[in-house]
Amino acid sequence: MNQPLYAVYGASGCGRGIMPFARAQLAREGLSADRIVFVDDGAGTAAINGHRVLRYADFLKEPASLRRIVIAIADSKIREGLFNRCIADGVHAWSVFAANIVVMDDVILGEGAALSPFVTITSNIQIGKGFHANLYSCVEHDCVIGDFVTFAPGVRCNGNIRIEDHAYIGAGAIIKQGRPGKPLIIGRGAVVGMGAIVTRDVPPGSTVVGNPARLHFLKD
Ligand code: UDP
Repeated sequence: MNQPLYAVYGASGCGRGIMPFARAQLAREGLSADRIVFVDDGAGTAAINGHRVLRYADFLKEPASLRRIVIAIADSKIREGLFNRCIADGVHAWSVFAANIVVMDDVILGEGAALSPFVTITSNIQIGKGFHANLYSCVEHDCVIGDFVTFAPGVRCNGNIRIEDHAYIGAGAIIKQGRPGKPLIIGRGAVVGMGAIVTRDVPPGSTVVGNPARLHFLKD
């Protein structure tokens, strides 16, 4: 009888960082490592780090009782597009968690998340689909995070913060806490530069950098 087939979509930096803890998660569930593959449409190689690499069309053709996939691509728009295509094709979203993450009380996490080693999510937090929290990131109490949000390594997201869909928070950024009923807001599609110290709302679509973080306008 066919067994389930699991996949990490994207075999570049993001995917190769996610595969080891995705594989470990399967091992904890008693499944062998040969039931997990990379899916990549441009990799041009048959295997990476001991896993087969399939194009998406070939992944759909593989014999399987069920297909589950995590989209391991940092670009949130690409992630959303591939996520929606997979769901439309009957492939199930798969959330993958490193073994040592800490998740406290009343955390609602959308489908297709990837939580890397040493991530901490405290209590009373709502997070949308396709969330990526890279190494050592944390989310403090009472935050609301939208769909396809990306945290690079070491993000410090304090309490009472609202982060809208497709925002990208750079490595080591610190976001000041909001207040109950008056969250600090990172707008839809905003980019917070690495190491930024965010002390006030960030408008949708904007980029902020520095300490304190200020709007950044690209020259040329
Ligand atoms: N990719 C894909 N199908 C797509 C878009 C991207 O298979 O429709 C793959 C692409 O071939 C590459 C990976 O996703 O291997 C994205 O890698 P990149 O280095 O751009 O990003 P990261 O790994 O940092 O997210």
